[in-house]
Amino acid sequence: MQAIEPETFPWGNRRRFHAYSDYLKQKHGFRIQKLSVDAGFTCPNRDGSKGYGGCVFCNNEAFNPSYCRKTEDIARQLEEGKRFHAWRYRHAGRYIAYFQSYSNTYAPLETLKRHYTAALEVDGIIGLAIGTRPDCVDEEILDYLAELAQCHFIHLEMGIESCYDRSLQWMNRGHDFATARSAFERAAKRGLSTGTHLILGLPGLSRNQELAQAEIISSLPVNTLKLHQLQIIRHTELEKQYLTRPETFHFFGLEEYIDFVVDFLERLSPEIKMERFAAEAPPRFQAGPTFGHIRTDQILQMIEKRLEERNTYQGACFRNNLS
Ligand code: SF4
Repeated sequence: MQAIEPETFPWGNRRRFHAYSDYLKQKHGFRIQKLSVDAGFTCPNRDGSKGYGGCVFCNNEAFNPSYCRKTEDIARQLEEGKRFHAWRYRHAGRYIAYFQSYSNTYAPLETLKRHYTAALEVDGIIGLAIGTRPDCVDEEILDYLAELAQCHFIHLEMGIESCYDRSLQWMNRGHDFATARSAFERAAKRGLSTGTHLILGLPGLSRNQELAQAEIISSLPVNTLKLHQLQIIRHTELEKQYLTRPETFHFFGLEEYIDFVVDFLERLSPEIKMERFAAEAPPRFQAGPTFGHIRTDQILQMIEKRLEERNTYQGACFRNNLS
């Protein structure tokens, strides 16, 4: 392969993937820090309206930062979040309130308005990132978010986890891929910024099937992507399945994962901004094999190094043949 001139990357910097953090800094002119808030929402896959028990991998406690406690007082959580991050991100100019736990559009519109407005009124908050399910965004909610987006930065994060219906069924997601596609299309029609997540390493998928998801995701009108390696989190249905039939799981080794992510990036549209490459649940929540004591920022460095070594970049093999 011919050597790549860094300035040729379409996202306008020398990194070999399209980094969401760089995009946000460029767009706003300063570093942006996300602050998680837990507004006390629930999820239709837990309260019985879609199902009980939730997705097989889900234990929200494993992903909630320690400063983030379920309470209606959004402003207090955000102020605590600012203090928590102050030592590490002294240069963070502004913040985005990240409604992370459970399904943050699953409530009457008036409740959503109250919580979102409370966050936007906190000093330094320039916008919202709202995590939810693709089946929890009706027209009324999307219209309201589009209205908010006229004055604030609004990013709607709808987890897909897999592009394959049989994997979604196995995960007990309670929705199919067509529902996800429809949600992204309806959000895009309103000009909303959207993001999604995928879990890599799900049982029953070949390497090629996993890689093919890069092209499927690229065919959606989605702006950002988070990749997570499969983790077995304590107190989940997945833990039970793993303990009963460990032979049905294959876990990426660290080096294998780095190469897989590079292969995936090569097939992904250069338009999609990468927000995360690996998950990092605290060790006390881990019930299966892990990458060991390695942080996600170190995994990011390894991916960047591997991209260099292989002289490749995001979108190097992207063929826009699914849209
Ligand atoms: S992962 Fe999200 S959608 Fe699934 S049960 Fe947990 S909160 Fe609900």
